[in-house]
Amino acid sequence: NTFADIDLGEAVNENIRRCKYVRPTPVQRHAIPISLAGRDLMACAQTGSGKTAAFCFPIISGIMRGQFPRPPRPRMAFPLALILSPTRELSCQIHDEAKKFSYQTGVRVVVAYGGAPINQQLRELERGVHILVATPGRLVDLLERARVSLQMIRYLALDEADRMLDMGFEPQIRKIVQQMDMPPPGVRQTMLFSATFPKEIQVIFSTLTGSSLILQF
Ligand code: AMP
Repeated sequence: NTFADIDLGEAVNENIRRCKYVRPTPVQRHAIPISLAGRDLMACAQTGSGKTAAFCFPIISGIMRGQFPRPPRPRMAFPLALILSPTRELSCQIHDEAKKFSYQTGVRVVVAYGGAPINQQLRELERGVHILVATPGRLVDLLERARVSLQMIRYLALDEADRMLDMGFEPQIRKIVQQMDMPPPGVRQTMLFSATFPKEIQVIFSTLTGSSLILQF
């Protein structure tokens, strides 16, 4: 019932201690073990539930455990994890938290959102990226410019999925999902968080995973 009971690795546990988190919240207690076991999940979670840590911890821990090949082309970024969120504000919050959680782990987190000049974001991507936090529109732009490839994505997190659909991002999400290779089963893991579960969300999730398990708290 404490973070020490969950096997996230020493570096992540040290960062959890630094953040002064003692006990996992309900969404963390349920979602983190499922995710560490390599399974996909779709969870009902509101803002303030601790969902950011629920998807960041297993991603950072998994990247640290993995052996990943070096990306082939330096001008194109090959993130290993993609976190999609509806707005610039939420993306920046996730980026800030993910940086704290990955402090001194060697895992590099980059954020890309629309409504801001792209050049600074391109420079950050060129310096290398393990975890990309992005809004759907800006990510489609980066894909069309061939500056990001989703071929090496092993972890996909969709945050506030219902809000992304409400904001009209369904075509962009569809494009993004199409660019992801269909990996052999068990290679890519999907985590979807949403406050509500309309049919469209269940369809997106089952397209990505072939599964339809929803966790509720
Ligand atoms: P979120 O729902 O991810 O936006 O998180 C809401 C707030 O709770 C953030 O300020 C987190 O830093 C904080 N938080 C997340 N998990 C924990 C935890 N296990 N213990 C204490 N605070 C937490």
